[in-house]
Amino acid sequence: MALIYDHLQNDTIAAIATAMSEAGIGIIRISGPDAAAIGSALYRTPKRNRTQIAQWRPGTIRFGYIVETDEKGNESLIDEVMLSWMKSPHSYTTEDTVEINTHGGMFLMNRILELVLKCGARMAEPGEFTKRAFLGGRIDLARAEAVMDLISSGNEFARKTSAAQLEGAVSARIKELREKILYEIAFIESALDDPENYSLDGYPDRLMETCRGLEKEMRSLLSHAEEGRILKEGIRTAIVGRPNVGKSSLLNHLAGEERAIVTEIEGTTRDTLSETVRVGGVLLHLTDTAGIRQTEDKVEQIGVHRAQQALDSADLILFVIDSSRALSMEDEEIAERIIGKMQEGKKCILLMNKTDLTCLVQEEAVRDLFTSKGADCPAILYSSLQTGEGMEELGEYVSGLFHTGEIAEKNEIFISNLRHKNAVKEALESICLVEDSIENGMSEDFFSIDLMNAYRVLGTILGEAVEDDLVEEIFSKFCLGK
Ligand code: GDP
Repeated sequence: MALIYDHLQNDTIAAIATAMSEAGIGIIRISGPDAAAIGSALYRTPKRNRTQIAQWRPGTIRFGYIVETDEKGNESLIDEVMLSWMKSPHSYTTEDTVEINTHGGMFLMNRILELVLKCGARMAEPGEFTKRAFLGGRIDLARAEAVMDLISSGNEFARKTSAAQLEGAVSARIKELREKILYEIAFIESALDDPENYSLDGYPDRLMETCRGLEKEMRSLLSHAEEGRILKEGIRTAIVGRPNVGKSSLLNHLAGEERAIVTEIEGTTRDTLSETVRVGGVLLHLTDTAGIRQTEDKVEQIGVHRAQQALDSADLILFVIDSSRALSMEDEEIAERIIGKMQEGKKCILLMNKTDLTCLVQEEAVRDLFTSKGADCPAILYSSLQTGEGMEELGEYVSGLFHTGEIAEKNEIFISNLRHKNAVKEALESICLVEDSIENGMSEDFFSIDLMNAYRVLGTILGEAVEDDLVEEIFSKFCLGK
C-alpha cells in the first residue's frame, strides 16, 4: 500500500481503552513516539525507583506504581499498576505503545489519563488507534472496519463475520477479483503498445468469459450481503394481529420478562413496544404493534400508524391469530396488508395461538385468507403462550427461514458492510458495461476504462485511493480508545 509509514504521526495519543464503567481493571493506552518517555515519567518500580521504559525488552509487562509529582518534586502514589511496553512496529498501532493496567474505577482511570495528558500526550479521537494501525500499514481498511464491527457485534454470527473480515477473508476475495481485472487491463495496454508481441485476435471472447466469471462472483457476494446484514444486525420483526390475540404475550415470552402490559381489555396495547431478543441463534428486533384496525380513538390511531410503519420496515412479520375465536374482518384486513408486504419479498409466519383453548378456527379458513386473494399462505405454526408450547418450533423455523445454519456451515464470506456492498455493486456495473462494449464490438480502449473503474472501486474496500475525508468518517465511528 502506498500509505505505509509516510503517514506515521509524530504526536502521541492516549485514551482509556477499556469500558467507561466500574470494572476490575482499566487500561490507559498511550501510542506514539513519546509513549515510553511519558510512561517513564509516571511509572515507578516496586522499589519506587525510576526506570527507562524504552530500555525494557519489547513485549514485557511489569508491576509497579503510578505516581504524581508536585512542584517540589515530592511523589505521591496514585495506583498500583501493571505496565506493558510494545515497541514499534510490533504493536496494535505499529507505533511505540505503553499500556497502563490500573484498577478499573472511572475516577481513577480519568485521574491517570489526566497525568498522561499533562506529560504531553494528546487525547485520542474515536478510532484513532485503529486508524494509526491502518495508516501504519498493518491492516487494510476492510480489516480496520472489522475491528469496529467486532466490538459492536451483538451476536455470534456478527462476531464470526467480523472476525473473518478482520482475518482478511473479505480482503483476500476482493484482491483476487482485482488481480483478475488488473491482468486484463495490463493485457490490453500491452497489446495496444506492442501489437507485434501481443495479439488481440479473439481477445474479446476471452475477456467476455472472464467478465462473466467476475460478474458471477460479484453477484454471489452481493446476494449473501443482504442475508449477512440481516444476520449481523438482527431481523426487524413486526408482531401483528388483531387485539387480544396474544401479541404482547408473545413479546413477553420471547423477551423473558413482563415488558409489555398484558390485559384482557381489547386495544390496550396502544403504542408499539420494541425489544431485541435472541431466537434460534438470530437476533430479532421485535415490535409489538397495536391491533391494526380502523379506529376512532386518537391514541389508538397513532398506534395503528406505527403498526403500519413497523410492517413497512420489517424483514419478518409474525401474524398472530387467536385460534379460540372465529376469524373476523380484522384478520382479513391484516392478511391483506401482509399479502402486499409478502409481494415485496418480506417473510411471514402465521402463529395460531391459544392452542390450550378449544379451537374454533380451521387451518383451511386461515389459508383461505391468503389463497382467496391469489396469494400463497405463509407457514402456519401453533402456539400457546399460556403453556409455552410451540415456542421452540418458532425459533427453529425463524432460524431456517434466514438460512443461518446454512451460512454458518458453509463458512461463506460475507460483505456485511454497506460501504463494501456499494463498492461491489459499482464494480459489477462496470463489468456489465465491459460486456456491453464487447457485444457491441467496441474497441479495446473502451474495455479498459470500465475495467479500470471496477479495479478502482474494489480498491476502495481495501482503503486504496480512498479520500481522506472518508477515512476520517470511517474511523470517527469507532469508540474512544480503540
Ligand atoms: P394482544 O392484545 O394481542 O397484545 O394480546 P395480549 O398478549 O395482551 O393477550 C390478551 C389475553 O390473552 C391475555 O389475557 C393473555 O393472558 C391471553 N393469552 C395470550 N396468549 C394466550 C394463550 O396462548 N392461551 C390462553 N389461554 N390465553 C392467552
